[in-house]
Amino acid sequence: MIKEDVAHALADLDITVPTGLWIAGECPSSDGTTFGVVDPATGEQIALVSSATVADAQAAVAAAESSAAAWRSVPPRQKGEILRRTFELMIERREALARLITLENGKALPDAIAEVTYAAEFFRWYSEEAVRIRGSFETSPSGANRIIVTHEPVGVCFLITPWNFPAAMATRKIAPALAAGCTMVLKPASETPLTALAIAAILQEAGVPSGVVNVIPSPRAGAISSVLLSTPSVRKLSFTGSTEVGRVLLRHSADHVVNASMELGGNAPFLVLEHADMNAAVAGAMIAKLRNGGEACTAANRFYVHRSLADEFSQRLAHEFNALRVGPGLDSDTQIGPLVNESTLSKVSSLVEQAVAQGARVVSGGRALEGPGYFYAPTVLVDVASDAAILRQEIFGPVAPIVAFDDEAEAIRLANDTEYGLVAYVYSADLAAGLRVSEALEVGMVGLNRAVVSDPAAPFGGVKQSGIGREGGSEGILDYMECKYIAVSW
Ligand code: NAP
Repeated sequence: MIKEDVAHALADLDITVPTGLWIAGECPSSDGTTFGVVDPATGEQIALVSSATVADAQAAVAAAESSAAAWRSVPPRQKGEILRRTFELMIERREALARLITLENGKALPDAIAEVTYAAEFFRWYSEEAVRIRGSFETSPSGANRIIVTHEPVGVCFLITPWNFPAAMATRKIAPALAAGCTMVLKPASETPLTALAIAAILQEAGVPSGVVNVIPSPRAGAISSVLLSTPSVRKLSFTGSTEVGRVLLRHSADHVVNASMELGGNAPFLVLEHADMNAAVAGAMIAKLRNGGEACTAANRFYVHRSLADEFSQRLAHEFNALRVGPGLDSDTQIGPLVNESTLSKVSSLVEQAVAQGARVVSGGRALEGPGYFYAPTVLVDVASDAAILRQEIFGPVAPIVAFDDEAEAIRLANDTEYGLVAYVYSADLAAGLRVSEALEVGMVGLNRAVVSDPAAPFGGVKQSGIGREGGSEGILDYMECKYIAVSW
């Protein structure tokens, strides 16, 4: 059920937004329960969505299992064409999907439009990869036999996604899983189930057979995941979310040795080296920090700036932050939307308050803005204590804490002093220094004089406690395949 005025707005945009479960098509939950989806710009409920029970989740797995053999045997070219059609439909409906994302997630509409483009690109990329799943044929060193290596679909996949990119985090899993020949059950975040359901409807329209992609919104994530991870037909878990929940899921996966991929939290350092181009560094900081309102696992979380540049960098960043327009994501001039919910707003506020209590100075912002809605002023902090929680935890909001460093070795040590290792940003006009520092950073991805690393054609993922496995690129499909080796004699 969708609130009337929202339903009106969406109907005008030619988009189907199911609010039931999606198990081989739309259906209600078996116990008839629903949960509310809230617009973060107003705090008001915009829709009621069916809440999957454990039995519903098992029914979704059964649907995925029974469609597995047929989907696996669809010729790669045909799979590719269905994926390509999905890309085209998403691009045709980009504006409507973006509005839906903004309604349930809050992000500014330009960020939502960029997300839909990024999300759709996974279907285009994997439509091309579906026909390039390679194997090999070799003679063994002894000459006694031949070695054939092939790749097979891993089987039924259980996909769990967060609220911060409701479309892209889903398609970054669905597209390679489909290309690999897998069927799946997706549990989207409870804050943002509508986008995943709308994508399920598009997949059906593009020709994905019933039962291949199932979506089970539910706030009962813990109960559902522990049952599904002990269901023998579930062979793969792909999780994107916090490191805390990732650890729990890895423990559950261990009991039945489920193949697990993890895209977890980040604490990205943004390094401005001594010879950086200041204009490029400030422009990059604006994007790396504020894309998605700061609610990105890739968001720059800590700024380490060479002491000779730190004052100018802080002042210029504060100047840019002060000029930003914060407001409801659907307003045409909004650049920064609200945070997703009350608890995120209070976490951001408390991290800033703690940092200030430890001696940090606020150069811009530094406070929550009046509601309704969960708005926080873009904030720049300087003189941040090295043990401040804001440097150690994911902020997930528009706050930039800046710390000055004296030499390259210190910058590397500070950047690596975290259990996370997703991404880092390095700004340097001296390419040799930039590459030297990039190689020394303990991360899965580096943006060198570049503030965006996300690219469907590149392997996205982290090291340390930021993750296991890669999504995107030609590597991404391998997460959904098992390697099989056949020793042949003749
Ligand atoms: P989260 O709290 O870990 O939740 C992520 C998903 O896990 C949601 O669908 C949630 O369901 C579900 N979940 C929660 N507890 C669970 C449990 N015990 N068993 C199974 N599933 C469970 O993360 P979030 O707050 O949605 O997202 C923000 C986090 O995601 C940040 O840490 C961010 O860095 C990370 N992230 C990482 C990447 C990456 O690629 N590395 C990308 C985007 C986001 P409910 O919503 O129903 O609770």
